[in-house]
Amino acid sequence: MNTLALEEPGRFAFREPTSPRQPVAGEALVRVSRVGICGTDLHAWEGKQPFFQYPRILGHELAVEVTAVGGGVTRVAVGDKCAVRPYLACSECLACKNGKPNCCMRIRVLGVHIDGGMQDWLTVPSEYLHRSAKLSLEELALAEPLSIGAHGVWRSGIGSGETALVIGAGPIGLAVIAGVRAAGAKFAVMEVSQKRMAFCRNHAGVETCIDATGDALEQVVEAFGGDLPGVVFDCTGNPKSMMSAFRYVAHGGKLVFVGLYPGDVTFSDPEFHKREMTILASRNATSADFDRVIAALEAGRILTAPWIEHRYTPETLVEAFPALLNPELGVLKPLVNWTA
Ligand SMILES: [Zn+2]
Ligand SMILES: [Zn+2]
Repeated sequence: MNTLALEEPGRFAFREPTSPRQPVAGEALVRVSRVGICGTDLHAWEGKQPFFQYPRILGHELAVEVTAVGGGVTRVAVGDKCAVRPYLACSECLACKNGKPNCCMRIRVLGVHIDGGMQDWLTVPSEYLHRSAKLSLEELALAEPLSIGAHGVWRSGIGSGETALVIGAGPIGLAVIAGVRAAGAKFAVMEVSQKRMAFCRNHAGVETCIDATGDALEQVVEAFGGDLPGVVFDCTGNPKSMMSAFRYVAHGGKLVFVGLYPGDVTFSDPEFHKREMTILASRNATSADFDRVIAALEAGRILTAPWIEHRYTPETLVEAFPALLNPELGVLKPLVNWTA
């Protein structure tokens, strides 16, 4: 039995397990099987995650198995394997009423605002569970980061034959790449890391990689046959990249910030205005995004096996965590086998 809490920046501690809370009407009790690790967790460990409160049980990329359900639950049944949509919404604010619970004013994200999945049991409202009879637990754990990318692509409204530049090919960038490919767009990827570019070519079917360490604008124009791309997705969360991204958008095009930078991003108004550019933020993901991602995974349209290079147990995760901060390691999606 494992309950792992981040007590303060840089210090994890295992806690005595408590017995799980039985589900009430509308809820399900689930056993946590797989936990993916991402930048949010690393920033929390470093103490760089804004507004983060300690202690906190991390874990928001979850594959779980339903072990009990409360009254009235029909969405899932005992034994179902599920991905968890970890963005608990209030259902009362304007965003929620307008069908945008992913940016709820009072959102509580598991593992961020409230305790997450680095524990054996969770009790969650069943509407946040997405089951699949076909997918492996590892694939289900990847549904969350893939849905973040799918949401960014949905925000852009990009369609078949349109053009896209994806900046940054970490897990979220790869998720966006999967989405633009599914949309039938022609796309190129911009990266600074040779390792990630090689991964894109070898495992993500990316034909055109733009080296952002060189003169990127020229390469972008070349990649799209003399034009700029209609949609640019920035998946870096890096302010320099986000500010440069304005230059790569075609006139009349769109810029989608999927990555988040916890500070100010500034831009030249003439560069923005002359393009009559649309800038979009993309936050979290919706139930529909999860459904689309799970359908795509089930159909074999997203091959995630190469994403996971390293698997941990709760114990080895604690030892390995500081090393995960080193980008040179090339660890794409660290995954924890929480329970067998
Ligand atoms: Zn994440
Ligand atoms: Zn709300």
